[in-house]
Amino acid sequence: MTLTEKVLARAAGKARVQAGDNVWVNADVLMTHDVCGPGTIGVFKREFGKDAKVWDRNKIVIIPDHYIFTSDSKSNRNVDILRDFVKEQNIPYFYDVIDDPNGHWVFDSSKGMLKKQYGSQYAGVCHTALPQKGHTRPGEILFGTDSHTCMAGAFNEFATGIGNTDAGFVMGTGKLLLKVPETMHFRLEGKMRPGVMAKDIILHCIGEIGFDGATYRAMQFDGEGANNLSMDDRMTIANMAIEAGGKNGIFEFDDKTQAAVDSRCKLNGTKATYEPVARDKDEKFSYELVVDLSKLEPTVACHPDPGQRKLAKELTNVKLDRAYIGSCTGGKTSDFLEFARVLNGKRVAIDTFGVPATPEIVHDLQTARWGEKTVWQILVDAGVQMTENAGCAACLGGPVDTFGRMNSPMKCISATNRNFPGRMGHKESQVFLASPATVAASALTGKITDPREFLPN
Ligand code: SF4
Repeated sequence: MTLTEKVLARAAGKARVQAGDNVWVNADVLMTHDVCGPGTIGVFKREFGKDAKVWDRNKIVIIPDHYIFTSDSKSNRNVDILRDFVKEQNIPYFYDVIDDPNGHWVFDSSKGMLKKQYGSQYAGVCHTALPQKGHTRPGEILFGTDSHTCMAGAFNEFATGIGNTDAGFVMGTGKLLLKVPETMHFRLEGKMRPGVMAKDIILHCIGEIGFDGATYRAMQFDGEGANNLSMDDRMTIANMAIEAGGKNGIFEFDDKTQAAVDSRCKLNGTKATYEPVARDKDEKFSYELVVDLSKLEPTVACHPDPGQRKLAKELTNVKLDRAYIGSCTGGKTSDFLEFARVLNGKRVAIDTFGVPATPEIVHDLQTARWGEKTVWQILVDAGVQMTENAGCAACLGGPVDTFGRMNSPMKCISATNRNFPGRMGHKESQVFLASPATVAASALTGKITDPREFLPN
């Protein structure tokens, strides 16, 4: 069995499963957020009754993160709906925007977009917050009401996005009927060269198969090249499995996985036991691709979908209006460090927005020092508009007052994960997906630029 089949077989209480089988699996964690949470709660109450209790209050994680820093009153109210439900159900893992359990969330636009407006519990973008808060464990099943839930596959688990109806059912029963996906095999070899990042690996793979090339399939990444990658790198790659239509992305378990998971479960006092899955000799794959990481170059997915692959050096005639770094995919500490390495001591030529994925990342950047300055200050001095209000921000457009949203037709290079028309705001805008290093180099020149032109020696 493949890694995915092994996790699903165990969760279904079976010795073996194979692609195409329909199986009932037990959920280990159900995650929801402010956009889909209210709908999921509505389905749960409609189907199980208004006084029903969730199947397991310790296995539900609720993370407001999407439409938070906006004056849109309906968006603000969604956070209040989550808080009311958490109180009613006594759910322990709720990462509220405010500290007052009886309060109401209202964003104060008069304070501006840059200074933080959240309390001590707020966790930021759900997919980045889940591992930071100790909710991702090898061998488990994670369902989330968000397509990029697949990011947690970096931790050797089966993680996938589901709709509100399915999530309402999981909320009531802890189970879901799943068809076991076929597995596509991406064997990574070698090491990335300077200027190349994990984002380039996944953009390369999606470019090979197209934005629907993995529809309802598992994408398994393994090999010595995968072992060389950091956990952040693996998260970037697993996150974008859905950009090829994948049901999930999954990596092998190793010492790095163990160290990351154990430290976070301990830090947060979450469940610390788990059972990883390892590769079998008899894996059956529906597709095989070997990727030599040492041959990859800075890569861009052009408008209008994540499969429009080109090399950054082929696109130097594309003039840009804006650069953006942030999101679950591209807003991690390691992403900002690579971004800052290119920008250090220079000045951006176009409007450039920086949105860390979580408050912990804001803290990392405001405390990490390179010489006299913090990394945060280096970015601000380079002209990047850095906000402390960690969250999804303009990654998916959002209400018109969302930080970094494109409210007119423009071209943007972005470290985010999705670039279908209208994704970051105006429907005639164009988004070019790239690594944080490529975004930084392009911000310096105002056109798409290979970051190797700016790498320090
Ligand atoms: S940062 Fe973007 S891709 Fe990630 S969860 Fe938020 S909206 Fe979705």
